[in-house]
Amino acid sequence: MDFKNTFTLKSIEMKEKRVIRDAIHDYIQIDHLVIWHLINSKEMQRLRRIKQLGGTYQVFQSAEHSRFVHSLGVYQVIRRMIATECVEKSLNDYDKLCVMCAGLLHDLGHGPFSHSFEGVFHENHEAMTVRIILEESEVHQILKSVYQDLPKDVAAIIQHTHSNQILIQMVSSQLDADRMDYLLRDSYMTGTTYGQYDMSRILRTMRICDHKIVFKESGVQAIENYILARYHMYWQVYYHPTARSYEHLLQSIFLRVKDLCDMNYCWKTKLDYLLPFLYQKISVQDFIDLDESVIMYYFKEFTKEDDTILKDLSIRFLNRKLFKYKQLKNQNEQTSIRQLAKKLGYNPKYYIISDNQKQIPYLHYGEKGELNEIEILSNDGKLSPLPSKSEIVSAILKSKQFKSDKKIFFPKEIKNEISIL
Ligand code: CA
Repeated sequence: MDFKNTFTLKSIEMKEKRVIRDAIHDYIQIDHLVIWHLINSKEMQRLRRIKQLGGTYQVFQSAEHSRFVHSLGVYQVIRRMIATECVEKSLNDYDKLCVMCAGLLHDLGHGPFSHSFEGVFHENHEAMTVRIILEESEVHQILKSVYQDLPKDVAAIIQHTHSNQILIQMVSSQLDADRMDYLLRDSYMTGTTYGQYDMSRILRTMRICDHKIVFKESGVQAIENYILARYHMYWQVYYHPTARSYEHLLQSIFLRVKDLCDMNYCWKTKLDYLLPFLYQKISVQDFIDLDESVIMYYFKEFTKEDDTILKDLSIRFLNRKLFKYKQLKNQNEQTSIRQLAKKLGYNPKYYIISDNQKQIPYLHYGEKGELNEIEILSNDGKLSPLPSKSEIVSAILKSKQFKSDKKIFFPKEIKNEISIL
């Protein structure tokens, strides 16, 4: 018999269980030493220095929670899924360990201020998470000390390549532990209530059918509630224009740093932590060394630089002098705003930014084209896609009028000039 079939979670159970008190899940219990070691690894501890919501705390001032606490929360939701009768019976102990690790580690590859950073430096957080798990890192060593293939099997869940669909669905699908935690947590931490839904009800109606996770028909209302919660959180919190303004300012700073390096600008600041990212030769260690505390230190240093654009943007960032915004009517308007800014001495590349946010509340297919439908199990044992069992979800899909929002962002100082254009 091979290791995967003979392995028992009992064999790695700690005599003294650890508990972590959490604002969302109350007590999160740690039963296994490997999980405890992973939590204490330097790669996981780094996530304390990466905020879950990037710049959103500039709008919802109390939303200062980190990716570290979110990761613990995802682990806890996975534990609750495993404890349901259907999953408990369907997975062996090795798969349960793999999926608990994957839930805990799924966000390791997030950089500082994730989305703005990824936009400029073309880092992909999922690919980086996989590298951290597979290459030289404490996390890799800890996983390998349990079983040589454990890093590979955990990475396969995060990459969606694992042969067991159930494990992938638990960590990443339209109804997964990641979203289940972040909706409740972000909602609680921002002080908004849109993200609340009935998680216990959803977990109770979870079933395994044809080797995948499905939900009983009696859970449809709880799922509708969850989908609307997500939709509303996007518009009210994640896509809040002020948070977008903050992200754009960040992105302009990163872009200016990159452009200055290309121009062989003479830096006062020692850019050691950023250089690997500029030259696209990033080792796992380089990546781990960069977190939001380093970036914040850089922004302070940038205020002493000779380059007026970088200096100005950094001062704006540190003192929350965010860009103002207005609804964008058409392309011509964008062109005239850019020309006007240029005339007034603002380089439009860094000072005039437009974006178009779209949110699709429910997808028939996943981002990578794979079937990603939430499936509903009827009493007669038949499976059907959620929209055919939910008038609310089907109405949203039929309307095809997915909300989209085009805005243009600019410095406050030219607000009056723009308004009379
Ligand atoms: Ca996450």
